[in-house]
Amino acid sequence: MRKKLVVGNWKLHGSLLNNQSLINQLKQDLHGLNWVDAAVCLPYVYLFQAQQLLQDSPIAWGAQNVSQFTEGAYTSCISAKMVAEFGCTYTIVGHSERRALKLESNQIASKRLLHALHAGLTPIFCVGETLDERDGGMAEMIVKNQMLNVVYGLDDEAFALAKKFNMVIAYEPVWAIGTGEHATPEQAQRMHAFIRYMVSERDPEFAQQVRILYGGSMSPANAQSLLSMPDIDGGLIGRAALVAEDFVEICRIAE
Ligand code: 13P
Repeated sequence: MRKKLVVGNWKLHGSLLNNQSLINQLKQDLHGLNWVDAAVCLPYVYLFQAQQLLQDSPIAWGAQNVSQFTEGAYTSCISAKMVAEFGCTYTIVGHSERRALKLESNQIASKRLLHALHAGLTPIFCVGETLDERDGGMAEMIVKNQMLNVVYGLDDEAFALAKKFNMVIAYEPVWAIGTGEHATPEQAQRMHAFIRYMVSERDPEFAQQVRILYGGSMSPANAQSLLSMPDIDGGLIGRAALVAEDFVEICRIAE
């Protein structure tokens, strides 16, 4: 039985003051969860604050990306090792908003994935197709190409780390992100099953263990139907993660 995982991706939101009240509300309301892991991924500059506020709580925290470099003359980059120093459990890798800004190719995403694993972080590796790609009947091919980084792009040592740190995959159809239009449970389930099948080609045992999150306009209104699908193991939540009541409700539904 895979434990559900609900992760808030705060994106480019937050301030010291607002974070404090949001985190304190989550700490107060998110308790007694046995079948759900909850986490928030904040902008880098707030990781220290998250560590201070969350270290004695059941809520984990993480970064929204890590550099494809480990160190050197790379102005503004933040390495996986650096974020690990702030107690992060997770880091998102390969989010479509990074890919869309042309900041991230499949190759770069796979380097980030590798560095995250070597720093002892649990990567949340994002895949997903655009609307044009879906309309063109290419959704599975696109996701397959993105997944190849994970399935065959990792050498045996890195794949062992992926298993050790319970790497997570997030299926986020680009057309569902921030649009209010979520994938139907059936659409999402089909892709999640396909992703699990791809992982099984490398490692059938890990395929049963790997958590595959759905992301894209997940809300308290649609979480039940999505999370009841057999291969949907949780959510990667954008907008609804900025409202404590909504995030808590999604966690309770996942439980
Ligand atoms: P929304 O929940 O706002 O659609 O964002 C999803 C997402 O991109 C999470 O990473």
